[in-house]
Amino acid sequence: MSATAPAQAEGPSSGDLASRNVQRRAVEAVIWGMSGVNYDLMRQEMLRKTDAKVNQFLFWGRPLDWHNQTLTPNPDTLYFMAFLDTREVGPLVLDIPPANGGSLNARGAEREPEPVAGRVKAIWPGARIRVVNDLSAAGYGFLRHAHDDACIVTVSSGIGHKVFLDGKPAIGPSGRGGEIGHLRVDFSEEAPLCECGARGHLGALACGRAVPEQAVRLARRDPGAFARSSLAAPVAGQARRVDSHLVARTFKAGDPWAMALVGVLAAPLGQALAGIHAAVGVERFVIMGGFAQALGPAYLALVGQAAAASTWDFGQVWGRMLELGEMGDDAGLIGAGRLAARE
Ligand SMILES: [Zn+2]
Repeated sequence: MSATAPAQAEGPSSGDLASRNVQRRAVEAVIWGMSGVNYDLMRQEMLRKTDAKVNQFLFWGRPLDWHNQTLTPNPDTLYFMAFLDTREVGPLVLDIPPANGGSLNARGAEREPEPVAGRVKAIWPGARIRVVNDLSAAGYGFLRHAHDDACIVTVSSGIGHKVFLDGKPAIGPSGRGGEIGHLRVDFSEEAPLCECGARGHLGALACGRAVPEQAVRLARRDPGAFARSSLAAPVAGQARRVDSHLVARTFKAGDPWAMALVGVLAAPLGQALAGIHAAVGVERFVIMGGFAQALGPAYLALVGQAAAASTWDFGQVWGRMLELGEMGDDAGLIGAGRLAARE
């Protein structure tokens, strides 16, 4: 038996690695600096050549031409542009609405994690930047004091949640907390598909997006009951065409079939909330989102009944533990503002 030591390949020395590292940092600094310099030049031009001031929105009424010497000109885009300065006005909250027929920084569509904080920092080197998820931001708005416990749940075209313990969102070391919408609650073969591609997740069964599928399933169980309901005529007898608006309207009018359908939608959510309560003991659930708002307090009562039926009776009163988040679409903005003021 013989042993030979393989010849060590000549690797880069630690000095080489250090100088490569420095060079890479320098290249990054130039790349990051470019957007900062570009942005500041645009700000200076705005102040010099237009009546606009910082903290106002500048609307470019015409597509730009060759006179515009920015680094990345888009000649077919009408821009809105704002140059923000927090020195005098204090903390600012940036809320980015869904694009409607336009686009907002095309990188957003690539679904890559966007280094938002780094980009803002390049523009405002002196500012303290905090990037907050929309539901966490809303949560800060609902906390009654800096150490409050609450679970914020959104029920709209999907389902999301955030548990706040001692005033902070509990999301775990990998940031996975807040995905109750992807908890599997229906294990049947024909369980509806979730947007993530899996079957039977809460988000596919219990929110506004789940309405047509659940309507079909309920109508199949008792076609006569659906045909007699006030929902059948507006959709010409096709349960698949039942949408969340029709359900909200007929549910509020007391239609028994609509109430049964909302019961089917509320049940898995109540079960999931009972799990959260049993796991961490949180006693305040703030339900927000368009679908929950449209259905109102009677919906909360059904969620509460389902929650009560899903766990041991520890003496909890679900009617008092569930509330509708009343801030609507502004909840994230208000919460982010409160967080900024608190920090
Ligand atoms: Zn899913």
